[in-house]
Amino acid sequence: DEAEWAEFDEVEAAEGEAPPKPQPVLAVVGRPNVGKSTLVNRLLGRREAVVQDVPGVTRDRVAYDALWNGRRFTLVDTGGWEPDAKGLQASVAAQAELAMHTADAVLLVVDARVGATETEEAVARVLRRSKRPVLVAANKVDDQRGVSDVHSLWSLGLGEPMPVSALHGSGSGDLLDAVLDVFPETPREIFGATGGPRRVALVGKPNVGKSSLLNKLTGEERSVVHDVAGTTVDPVDSLVELDGEVWRFVDTAGLRKRVKTASGTEYYASLRTKAAIEAAEVAIMLIDASEPLSEQDLRVLTMVVEAGRALVIAYNKWDLVDEDRRHQLEKEIDRELVRVRWAERVNVSARTGRAVAKLAPTLRTALESWDTRIPTGRLNGWLSDLVAANPPPVRGGRQPKILFATQAQSRPPTIVLFTTGFLEAGYRRFLERKFRETFGFVGSPVRISVRVRE
Ligand code: GDP
Ligand code: GDP
Repeated sequence: DEAEWAEFDEVEAAEGEAPPKPQPVLAVVGRPNVGKSTLVNRLLGRREAVVQDVPGVTRDRVAYDALWNGRRFTLVDTGGWEPDAKGLQASVAAQAELAMHTADAVLLVVDARVGATETEEAVARVLRRSKRPVLVAANKVDDQRGVSDVHSLWSLGLGEPMPVSALHGSGSGDLLDAVLDVFPETPREIFGATGGPRRVALVGKPNVGKSSLLNKLTGEERSVVHDVAGTTVDPVDSLVELDGEVWRFVDTAGLRKRVKTASGTEYYASLRTKAAIEAAEVAIMLIDASEPLSEQDLRVLTMVVEAGRALVIAYNKWDLVDEDRRHQLEKEIDRELVRVRWAERVNVSARTGRAVAKLAPTLRTALESWDTRIPTGRLNGWLSDLVAANPPPVRGGRQPKILFATQAQSRPPTIVLFTTGFLEAGYRRFLERKFRETFGFVGSPVRISVRVRE
């Protein structure tokens, strides 16, 4: 009833309105076979099978939520690398470079039985330049005999090596303590969360025009700021003024430098895309309008949706689109992009500058939706009317009842339905459609979960 809902709103206003605390990120780097995956599993404290027996198989899951001593952080396993054309050393060094750009702290894992190889020395050279704290885990120290191997790792110049056995678990608690110690007070992400510029990821498969668009955006506007007075901005990001507002385009260093490696490129690119999406609040997903929509496009799109970020779809190279292509494109949109019907589309040309000015207002709309929270009272008023007119279908002779709903969080908006039975996927989709008809949420994914109360 109304009073109960009002009470919910109060509790949620107290709990739910606080800005989400940004989690610090720890990146784990090292040669293949030093035990990174085993250690990541150990640090996560679960037995999830991250370790793969097939060498060089790319792991699609790279980021995990970790918890130690009541503090949450994100663990990024940058493993799964094969030597590229320039060799293992170059490939691992590139991995370390990426880790420095995307993490708050880096953990270099070394096999203490083998000691520091040329590869570790190359990586250490990269990491010593890092402004981020670096820890060295001397792994495979399974017993007392192994301890003497540890000291030689001082030679890497990265401070005291910490002995661990990922296999047995010894030393992992001390290592986690040390990790929490070196994390900065305020993770890098805080910059945007405290009223600073909103964070945008410019993503899309290679050659869709990401760097061209970034150049256009930074070139057109007079005030391209790399440094806001008095603050240091991570140089991997670009501050761009659009429509009178400064935005932070995350991880644009890669776009500028056009990092290319001979093999493993796709994995590297997808890792990078994923990191950029994670670091952003909203993604501009670029699609080449002159070419048929591809699997690769859809994969990037899936990453954005799964990460729960706000989304703007920009069809680039619109200058190349003729009447025929436009018809095809409309069909593709109907067929392939139904699941992101809620995202606004802008048809731009990085070459001519067409409609580029529309991006900022579209980003604003998407972020507004992403931030929105519907009070429980309003949500339930809407829901009871809707359910009265369209009750959930009977299943196994029983009709599930929807007791109430609440928006448990924003960023992205997440609705929890409390029910007395299972709701079919079709009915859930119907609810989402109706929900959007009433509340909009243009540009933002909406998650609806069902909690059954028996
Ligand atoms: P990654 O390629 O760096 O991710 O390495 P993995 O985690 O796949 O481990 C490579 C091999 O080293 C596997 O056979 C692991 O079982 C083994 N290993 C990992 N950690 C330890 C450890 O602490 N002690 C011992 N003895 N073996 C380990
Ligand atoms: P990225 O790999 O996504 O960063 O793509 P680039 O910005 O390097 O662009 C790939 C190619 O597409 C280059 O040859 C660009 O000149 C071209 N390109 C980018 N945007 C446009 C556009 O709006 N129209 C046309 N005709 N070509 C474009």
